[in-house]
Amino acid sequence: MPVNDMIPTPHSADNLVPHIPGVIFQFYRSHCGRMNFPYLEGGGEALALIDRPQLTEDAGNLIEQLTGSDHPKIMSAIERSARWMLPLTTRFRLPFPKEKPHWIAVSANPEPTENGVRWNGMMMDITDQVAEEQRLRKLCDTDPLTGLPNRRKLMVHLTHLASLSTRHGTPLSIMMLDVDHFKKLNDRWGHLQGDNVLQQLAMQTQLLLRCEDMVARLGGEEFMVVLPLTPLQQCHKLADRLRHAIASHDFGIGEGEVTLSIGVAEYRCGEPLRNMIERADQALYSAKEDGRDCVSLLP
Ligand code: GH3
Ligand code: MG
Ligand code: MG
Repeated sequence: MPVNDMIPTPHSADNLVPHIPGVIFQFYRSHCGRMNFPYLEGGGEALALIDRPQLTEDAGNLIEQLTGSDHPKIMSAIERSARWMLPLTTRFRLPFPKEKPHWIAVSANPEPTENGVRWNGMMMDITDQVAEEQRLRKLCDTDPLTGLPNRRKLMVHLTHLASLSTRHGTPLSIMMLDVDHFKKLNDRWGHLQGDNVLQQLAMQTQLLLRCEDMVARLGGEEFMVVLPLTPLQQCHKLADRLRHAIASHDFGIGEGEVTLSIGVAEYRCGEPLRNMIERADQALYSAKEDGRDCVSLLP
């Protein structure tokens, strides 16, 4: 065999570990709750920032200092893994000086010991992967033309609000918005100007709402506004303010060219969500029937 084709001798595990892009560890928690890392070795930036001798003695302090909800999240993941002897898999943010925190993924297998539980596992820096996940999630949830949440995001949000409303008996209302004679507007001013109207409409609507409200583009020239903690009459008033604001806004194509028909409806505790949406739809249909540029509600 030519010398160049010879297979290199493998590193021993001890030589190899400092070169891997992650950390191999042994984590221990005693029955009385004391936590430490008897073994913590590897490569990557994160290790350089960690006080390893300290962690060998006590890991409780570092875990307590984790950002926001990460501390309770990690503690309950540890608890669940210890109780059911299931793999520990979670992620957390590790604070980095002068930088955003780095996301670290943990994966470890538990084994019972006489006085506690010991985990053998690894940690990897997944900051880039998490950033990519967040970018894709935003892409999935956002309407590209207006930057508003899309129908998918709206339905997730509305489902959550409806369950809160059912549980606490709090009011929840929605508005269905549809631009009047938008086809004619496109025909007269061109599709690009039509797009511009939709973008301005999205912005003007957001300006009138509270930060807990949500406006989403359902598709085409149809939008929905979701108003938590808002009864029907209040929603009706806001819808009328919005209708008026849009009718008098200067979209750059002459006053009164852009008007809205709006249907409003209120959630009835425990009903299927689609019932409320259907009522708002019917109310919108009535508004169109009543001559457009108006608000309608169904009792
Ligand atoms: P109505 O008052 O009954 O609602 O009439 P309308 O013309 O607004 O309703 P119709 O459903 O007949 O037409 C909607 C139009 O919206 C047709 C479609 O070409 C246009 N449209 C849908 N999506 C977009 C878009 O993203 N940009 C632009 N410029 N036009 C769009
Ligand atoms: Mg329409
Ligand atoms: Mg329309």
